[in-house]
Amino acid sequence: MEIEPPMQPTKELMAAIAAVRLASTVTQTVQQSLVTADTLQKKDKSPVTVADYASQAVVCKALLDTFPNDPVVGEEDAKELREPGNAALLDAVVKHVAAAKGASTTRDQALSWIDRGGATPPADGSMKRYWTLDPIDGTKGFLRAEQYAIALALIEDGRVVLGVLGCPNLPASDGGDQGVLMAAVRGGGTVTMPLNSATTQGTPVSVCDTADPAKARFCESVESGHSDQGGSAKIAELLGIIAEPVRMDSQAKYAAVARGDASIYLRLPTRADYREKIWDHAAGAIVVEEAGGTVTDAFGKPLDFTHGRKLEQNRGIIATNGKFHGQVVKAVAQVIG
Ligand code: AMP
Ligand code: MG
Repeated sequence: MEIEPPMQPTKELMAAIAAVRLASTVTQTVQQSLVTADTLQKKDKSPVTVADYASQAVVCKALLDTFPNDPVVGEEDAKELREPGNAALLDAVVKHVAAAKGASTTRDQALSWIDRGGATPPADGSMKRYWTLDPIDGTKGFLRAEQYAIALALIEDGRVVLGVLGCPNLPASDGGDQGVLMAAVRGGGTVTMPLNSATTQGTPVSVCDTADPAKARFCESVESGHSDQGGSAKIAELLGIIAEPVRMDSQAKYAAVARGDASIYLRLPTRADYREKIWDHAAGAIVVEEAGGTVTDAFGKPLDFTHGRKLEQNRGIIATNGKFHGQVVKAVAQVIG
């Protein structure tokens, strides 16, 4: 059994799955070779910098081969990497890109692939079709060898139509090997498959059916600077939730809601002027929606992907299993007004 209806094995879906898998081999290799007790202790961020750039390079190269005209809105560009002082960093990036591709790669190729991810959609929504990529979402989680994700989504006419999440450190829910890939297609559902494998045999996933918010388990960021954890504790109290929050980095939180490990993901603004980045939510949001859940901003507004690199019209995120979304929105409004 391969990808089955209603999900269709389109060229876009297959390319996105392959690209995310390739990127995840890069990030896992970097994590195994460069994240050490020493880098952890020194809070040395260089491993994630190498992995971030190399991941973006391989995804952009793969998309370039299949869809040469599609823009890619990625988190990184190669400006800093071109600086002479970063030559050693660039060489490390090139080495990891070449290893993943199994083919020699020049510095210029790696730089141009990374830069291919530097598109900016105009704020008037006129870029009709583009990909958005977070080459490593949850950099702090990556450095702690905890949760992180490679997140790739396709946006058409302001709507996320496809999303793929690679979560290298997420355990399989069936007790299989660690490393989970989730893929969602608008109208085609969400499937999960092993990340570190070539199979495209997907198992459909769906949100949990808990209808009582008091029985919900919620998840949020590990980083208190990314989400107001004091606020979410008050919201949990209002909803009668007893279970402690599950804290994890990255869009693995969306994967957790999509497969029913949790039924709420709260991301409450910590600053009035912060706007969420599109690549931090596009893939995760469709993965939850196609698994039967609901995703809005913290005020219950649909996410609006037509305003450039950020969700300019939205603040915060609420993702739920869809059974009590309105109640959560109300509780959030009571707490953050
Ligand atoms: P998480 O792993 O869920 O904590 O989210 C990681 C993402 O948080 C990163 O990719 C950043 O783009 C994003 N981020 C950085 N600063 C903030 C902030 N002040 N509020 C919300 N998200 C942020
Ligand atoms: Mg991110």
